[in-house]
Amino acid sequence: MGQRIDITQLASGVRGGDRRALARAITLIESGRSDHRTDALALLDALGTDRQALRIGLSGTPGVGKSTFIESFGLMLTGQGKRVAVLAVDPSSARSGGSILGDKTRMERLARDPKAFIRPSPSQTQLGGVARRSREAVALCEAAGFDIVLIETVGVGQSETVVAQMSDLFVLLLAPAGGDELQGVKRGIMEMADLILINKADGDLKAQATRTCADYAGALRLLRKRPQDPTGFPQAMLVSAIAHAGLEAAWAAMEQLAEWRKDNGIWDESRAAQASYWFAEEVRQGVLALLQTDPAATARMAQAQQDVLAGRISPTAAAGSVLAPLQKRLTD
Ligand code: GDP
Repeated sequence: MGQRIDITQLASGVRGGDRRALARAITLIESGRSDHRTDALALLDALGTDRQALRIGLSGTPGVGKSTFIESFGLMLTGQGKRVAVLAVDPSSARSGGSILGDKTRMERLARDPKAFIRPSPSQTQLGGVARRSREAVALCEAAGFDIVLIETVGVGQSETVVAQMSDLFVLLLAPAGGDELQGVKRGIMEMADLILINKADGDLKAQATRTCADYAGALRLLRKRPQDPTGFPQAMLVSAIAHAGLEAAWAAMEQLAEWRKDNGIWDESRAAQASYWFAEEVRQGVLALLQTDPAATARMAQAQQDVLAGRISPTAAAGSVLAPLQKRLTD
């Protein structure tokens, strides 16, 4: 991407559903170069927001079977003629530059399917950057006419909240558990889930999966009824990604919930609330980035950080000392 990019041409490639154009467009939005950022914003602007996909957030800890599930679920959907995009939100790449979800050998069959598009998480971005990049990549996939965008994440840190804030449906994938404890799944995550899928309900694991599913169904019934849900949701269901079992039923539940939310105005309401959340987030991060472009402010921040670490000053007072000159400038 050395020379100037022809935005009109790239936009028409993306709108035409060309996967190579889409891949180039995502590379553009991931770039940290300021001229690329200008182009990326022009591209997003040119693409508009008239197309919507069903955005499905999918979370699960490593090993529960996310890639196996996405491959068989994705192939089932493309088999029905639907176009499916898969994006990964991987906070581990923000921290270490290494990615849990970035392995290129994952989902090989789906990757070869002309109706599918798979994009691993970029490495070496800030978590804030991961969130923005993912939101913009979702928008690009929607503009490219994909019917379903699966946004995959590992259950670490804030990544589930980030993904839930850009999804229409949030699915939690779990493996069969031994004992009767709920695998340490945090209540907050349970509350975000629209659907809990217990994977590996096959062979020797089937009985255990069935018990785990009943446990979660019980736990979900204890949660407060949410106004955005029809009767019977959130739901716990059994699937086997390997045996291709329960995938149709899981899809039927997702479709039912999405339709219900559309019919009841909740879909639009939720997208508006998400847009508003990301607007506030962008402003917050923008202010921070602005602050960091000023060498004096950066030095003040570093000093204040040291003072806080050494216990010489309270966090509030330290933040005040960093922000005071800024406040003064804004009010002058
Ligand atoms: P991820 O880390 O969440 O992406 O998990 P993977 O898809 O890589 O799967 C982890 C392991 O679980 C692999 O050995 C898979 O073969 C196995 N696995 C995935 N899905 C199933 C399933 O439905 N049944 C069984 N028995 N094993 C599965």
